[in-house]
Amino acid sequence: MTGFGLDNLPYGVFSLPRGPRRLGVRLGSAVVDLSGLGGHLAAASLNPLMAAGRREWTAAREAVVAHVTAGPPVIPLRDVTLHLPFEVADYTDFYSSEHHARNVSEILRPGSPGLPPQWKHLPIGYHGRSATVVVSGTPIRRPSGQIAEGVFGPSRRLDVEAEVGFVVGKPGRRIATTDFAEHVFGLTLVNDWSARDLQAWEYRPLGPFLAKSFATSVSPWVVPLDALGVVAPPPQDPAPLPYLRPAGPAFDLRLTVEWNGTPVSRPPFASMYWTAAQQLAHLTSNGASVRTGDLYASGTVSGPARDETGSFLELTRNAAEPVKLADGTLRGFLANVDTVRISGRAFSTAGGEISLGSVSGTVVP
Ligand code: CA
Repeated sequence: MTGFGLDNLPYGVFSLPRGPRRLGVRLGSAVVDLSGLGGHLAAASLNPLMAAGRREWTAAREAVVAHVTAGPPVIPLRDVTLHLPFEVADYTDFYSSEHHARNVSEILRPGSPGLPPQWKHLPIGYHGRSATVVVSGTPIRRPSGQIAEGVFGPSRRLDVEAEVGFVVGKPGRRIATTDFAEHVFGLTLVNDWSARDLQAWEYRPLGPFLAKSFATSVSPWVVPLDALGVVAPPPQDPAPLPYLRPAGPAFDLRLTVEWNGTPVSRPPFASMYWTAAQQLAHLTSNGASVRTGDLYASGTVSGPARDETGSFLELTRNAAEPVKLADGTLRGFLANVDTVRISGRAFSTAGGEISLGSVSGTVVP
């Protein structure tokens, strides 16, 4: 069971050697070419389909399921190159795991109050850099920057953030939480690479800047909301303002972080405090618009246990307690040529386990 059956069928963009980019869906360890179905499915990216709205998304999925059921020729994954599945418009990143926010505060600001005062009143976020969103497999060049007064050089504290990204299809503004599924097409796995030393020196008072803008990796697969079962959102106390209610659907996604092939953490997405519907409502609540191809990420997914944390800052307590990998070596932060792979499982609308695929990247000097 690979988790890529008829109940999943995530969309991606692939090409054969010297061939054009085409839309496909993943079936097992192969790709099914959708270009013969015509319409938006004959495009070279997901954007035209995503712009068409929910009714078209459902119709396209029905056509794809019928096509795949008929037993079309498949192309083994090893024969194709996978590309970014959509053209990324704007990129926003949130900070919606209470465990992550508390851990970071405890590690970096010992003695300070655990959560900022507004944390439980609004989903905190910042606007990131869409130009450096790259597809899984793209090498990650170690960033350089100012890491202290008078010191410019390669980051010594390069880290990952295991996150879930939501992809906007239909444009809008002031989007109610109840309209989440009208605007969001699907989700993808995200690794928000982070240089902790650059971050510590630069982030006050305006938040992350160059510590995160050098690269953000996404999975080559976008799992449509139509494939995903939903669960009840987590309880929130205090009750948020009316524009953030109802909280909207939540998703029981189970991530795994592997460091050079060693599983080191299993972040549980169901433990997030703010939902994707509330993030989108907040993002557009001031009148700001979202457009087709906008990507917004959940923020680092961390559960209550050490081996459920979504960053190495938390996993190794800022390198004070290194982890041992399968080859016997110890790690605090990323070394050159280290590879990190974040994979995910989810549940289909019928309750079966499906795969979210994975996002991986290797650090190069
Ligand atoms: Ca992040």
